[in-house]
Amino acid sequence: MNKCVFFDRDGIVNRAPVEGGYVERLEDFEILPEFVSVLKAVSAEGFLAAVVTNQRCVSRGIVSLDVVDSMHDHLRRVLEDTYGITLLDVMVCPHGRDDGCDCRKPKSGMLLTVARQHDIDLASSWMIGDHETDIEAGAKAGCRTIRVLYGDSESSADFAVVSMFDLQEQIVDILETEGGRGDGGR
Ligand SMILES: [Mg+2]
Ligand SMILES: [Zn+2]
Repeated sequence: MNKCVFFDRDGIVNRAPVEGGYVERLEDFEILPEFVSVLKAVSAEGFLAAVVTNQRCVSRGIVSLDVVDSMHDHLRRVLEDTYGITLLDVMVCPHGRDDGCDCRKPKSGMLLTVARQHDIDLASSWMIGDHETDIEAGAKAGCRTIRVLYGDSESSADFAVVSMFDLQEQIVDILETEGGRGDGGR
């Protein structure tokens, strides 16, 4: 079976929009260099990589699914052409809070779908995000979790780092920690 690192998008893959806002234009989709470093490390450790992102802006009519897709096409192309790394999948939940879908994090639907399609062992996999909803989704799926705190002080994640730079510094140590659960957090 395969093992995978699931990445949240905004704040992890690309620079986060202002609180309560959305990345609305392709020009504003700015890939974080620290993410590229983390992704390289993850690949070198033998993990597949996928992105799972809530984009309620689609159901609200703020950003079209076409524009969201264009961001992800751009992301995949840059990663492949520049770094030779292929993302397994980029899953989007376009639904609203009250739509009752199974994919919107903190539900784990997107992770479960990717896992089913690509023969992924979720217990050997990780979810990395900058909100507790990401951590909840990862934990529900049976993954170990890493929270990028960005100023928050606490998380229920298995590991916490203060920033994407901190994650870049620590990712190999974290992934190589056998078992992982419970220890090594802050
Ligand atoms: Mg985020
Ligand atoms: Zn959904």
